[in-house]
Amino acid sequence: MNDANAGQKPLDSWVTPRFAQPASFMRAPFAPDAAGLDIALVGVPFDMGSSNRAGARHGPAQVREMSRLIRQVNGSTGVAPFKICRVADIGDAPVNPLDAKGSLAAIEAFFRDVHKKGAAPVSIGGDHTVPLPVLRAIGSKSRPFACVHFDAHSDTWDTLYDSKDNNATPFRRLIEEGLIRADRLVQVGIRGTLFAQDDLAWALDQGVRIITMDEYESMGRQRAIEEIRAIVGDMPLYITFDVDGLDPVHCPGTGAPEPGGLSMRDSQVIIRSLRDLDVVGGDVCEVSPPLDPAGHTAVNAANLAFEILCATAEATQRRKARRA
Ligand code: MN
Ligand code: MN
Repeated sequence: MNDANAGQKPLDSWVTPRFAQPASFMRAPFAPDAAGLDIALVGVPFDMGSSNRAGARHGPAQVREMSRLIRQVNGSTGVAPFKICRVADIGDAPVNPLDAKGSLAAIEAFFRDVHKKGAAPVSIGGDHTVPLPVLRAIGSKSRPFACVHFDAHSDTWDTLYDSKDNNATPFRRLIEEGLIRADRLVQVGIRGTLFAQDDLAWALDQGVRIITMDEYESMGRQRAIEEIRAIVGDMPLYITFDVDGLDPVHCPGTGAPEPGGLSMRDSQVIIRSLRDLDVVGGDVCEVSPPLDPAGHTAVNAANLAFEILCATAEATQRRKARRA
């Protein structure tokens, strides 16, 4: 059998019921670090990049808890990520809740180690500053990434309250630092009120493709998928999902909800459509449990993380087969 993950299995629900034992992401085994793994599931409990309604530091804990509901096989594609790849939950990246700069440096160092050990990261935030230290760790100027970015917001401001690194600026920093190619960055779900009419001007000038919710609705899901795939092409692809890209009915627990957003259904289908691309990892950010103690947002975040995991696992399997 094609079973790369023997000995690294998620808990068997027929032996250990899904409500039992401490929660890991999707009931994956815990591992001390990324050694020997193809994919590392990582929590990043950092929300010091939120300027308004914080709480995403509690995201990893609640997503772990609600991800007990995730089973092991993708019902639409048939992909079994824990069979085709060695996957484990390696715990949370280190943070100091009173030192934002120090935390971002520590998170980056943590992901450098994951990358050095050869594992692709699938991360659960944390606020949307999180992809900044992750991509600083796993990216390089000589091999910039394409990026599919789900969000209500473009996150391409220069500064916020004089801060350069926060949840409103990461994609500007990543373009400036040469880690994401502006003309291979697609932002989906953008909408909501702006501070000024030229809020999106910098990103558009760089060649970022912004598919606003208005445009998404008029072009339809299939045409959007075709365009996203054409922009990414054969470049290494990082997927980042700010849950506020979802309509607030699907994500009451997030800091900056914007009415009129993506459905879970559309989001799942779009991520699945990326499965044959060269996915190198991704993240799901901005789940704020204090704003949704019932965990509806976290259930959706866990399912989005599972879709990103499946796409990453298929791409990882292809990369391994090419090297073999
Ligand atoms: Mn965001
Ligand atoms: Mn957002």
